[in-house]
Amino acid sequence: MGFRDALLDAWALVMPVECAGCEGPDRALCGGCSGSLVPLPTLRATPGGLPVVTALRYEGIVRRVILAFKEQQRTDAAAHLAPALAAALLATADQPGPVELAPVPTSRAAYRRRGYDPVRLVLRKAGHRPAGVLRVARRTTAQKSLSAAERAENLRGALVARGSLEGRRFTLVDDILTTGATLDEAARAISEAGGTVVGGATIAFTPRLIAFRDKPSREDYVGGKAHDDGPPPTGRPS
Ligand SMILES: [Zn+2]
Repeated sequence: MGFRDALLDAWALVMPVECAGCEGPDRALCGGCSGSLVPLPTLRATPGGLPVVTALRYEGIVRRVILAFKEQQRTDAAAHLAPALAAALLATADQPGPVELAPVPTSRAAYRRRGYDPVRLVLRKAGHRPAGVLRVARRTTAQKSLSAAERAENLRGALVARGSLEGRRFTLVDDILTTGATLDEAARAISEAGGTVVGGATIAFTPRLIAFRDKPSREDYVGGKAHDDGPPPTGRPS
């Protein structure tokens, strides 16, 4: 994967690009937009009670940069998002003993479409080695129109461990935290394989207002939680 990263970086260097945040004439990210990516680690929790540290609000420039990174092949933005993930991971690092980092996997279809795995790419840019212990077991339907209970049911069994994880401990890593239903499903898959999940870290979290604006549905008002696990236009697992 190191070779692939190097290729992606080289591609970003020769490609005439604009700022991933404001589309100003800049190779990667302009100074103004860089200022919007200064991490502020915040502790949140999933519905299942898993503590998750997240570093940026998924709105404005942050949202545009992440969308450009995930959906417009802006792999050069990984280096600019890495400090946020690194800061979130640092804030989760008060565990005694070894803890591996398990990214929430993308589906094979999403990987083929993008040609890269966004979470793993940022994780490596942040200087960490991902433990690829999970895989997508089956397709799920779009989450946005589902109630909280329906979402949990929809996600159940969506992820599976690649093998026994007996005696191993993990911090889950994902790009965006919205309700946390996907992180709960990842934790379930790891527990089922004998592993332990001590917490989670994400680059950004979706403020409730944004979730409502992007996904106007009555479920946004039910149960006090927003109802999306990823940025539009693609959900996860897709
Ligand atoms: Zn900019």
